[in-house]
Amino acid sequence: MTLEELGWTPEFQDHLTALAMPELIPARIVRQDPYSYFVMTEAATVMAELSGRLRPGGGEAQDRPAVGDWVAVMPHEEGETALIHALLPRRGGFSRQRAGTVTGPQVVAANIDTVFIVMGLDGDFNLRRLERYLALCWNSAASPVVLLNKADLSEDLDGQIAEVQSVAMGVDIHALSAKQGDGFDAVEGYLGKGRTVAFIGSSGVGKSTMVNRLTGSETMAVGAVRGDDDKGRHTTTHRELFVLPGRGVVIDTPGMRELQMWGDEDSLRGAFADIEDLAQTCKFRDCAHESEPGCAVREAVESGTLDDGRFQSYLKLKRELAHTAMRQSEASKREERLRAKKFGRMVKAIQKHSRKRKETGSQD
Ligand code: GDP
Ligand code: ZN
Repeated sequence: MTLEELGWTPEFQDHLTALAMPELIPARIVRQDPYSYFVMTEAATVMAELSGRLRPGGGEAQDRPAVGDWVAVMPHEEGETALIHALLPRRGGFSRQRAGTVTGPQVVAANIDTVFIVMGLDGDFNLRRLERYLALCWNSAASPVVLLNKADLSEDLDGQIAEVQSVAMGVDIHALSAKQGDGFDAVEGYLGKGRTVAFIGSSGVGKSTMVNRLTGSETMAVGAVRGDDDKGRHTTTHRELFVLPGRGVVIDTPGMRELQMWGDEDSLRGAFADIEDLAQTCKFRDCAHESEPGCAVREAVESGTLDDGRFQSYLKLKRELAHTAMRQSEASKREERLRAKKFGRMVKAIQKHSRKRKETGSQD
């Protein structure tokens, strides 16, 4: 396997060279566990650990590597494990709202060229959910492609495609049947040496069927990574990044499959350009499109040129994003107070020390 087949580019090489540490070699993260990673180098797939600087507590969550990231590693002598020294700058990553109480983005997959948003043409068909996924993609700097799967089950294929076109403007849309293979060439068209793709969509829409079609069951078996547990036994774990020799890389992480909305309010600009354009012509610049006079958005809904369902979906996502932003600013205020308190204590300690020095006449 060459580095190029794994997605390495001259740009990443420049970043590596800039580190000026010739003993480090490039590797791509193929799996992330709570305390360890698996990385693929040109030579092998090995277990890897973060160097102290990159460990939790040593920086922001988004500064730590995720599946798909390129890192600079120091191979250990036996060649069985490696130490991750630096995270190379990303070409866009896919983030989600962090699980638990901490608010903030968590990168679940990085350096993706194309994100396939998979929607079923059966009961899964839901334009509002599609809008949510599109907003996420625009916010993640990964270009989305809509795959309408289970075309064999659709009773009104043209009608459904037209509905999707009305909410996914400027996005490629393909109808196919992953199970039967009809139309799957369209997916292959986004692959290519060094390119990286990933899938998102609800459970049951056919993502595994597609990943299996791309990787082939043989690759899946090879995809199992061997690692050593602490008793020296070999354990088999599941890899989340697959190389399709000469055709690119597929990322399939559980994290990508369970994405929650993340982003700032600007992230709706890509997915709702029609509404944002209309909003430019509202009478008030900060129009909330509720009951303000001269609201161009409401007028469009009333006259039927803008679908009310789409408008409601836009408002809902906007509220969600505002809520996240508020939670985040509360969290950072808490942190700020804590820092101020710590600083105050430090200042007091210094003052106390210098008072003592004056009292005792010490010269040190
Ligand atoms: P995932 O949860 O998104 O990974 O979905 P799976 O790939 O596991 O597929 C869920 C179910 O849908 C399976 O029973 C598949 O056989 C079925 N399925 C996948 N693609 C198609 C398709 O194009 N047409 C039909 N009828 N069923 C499909
Ligand atoms: Zn308005």
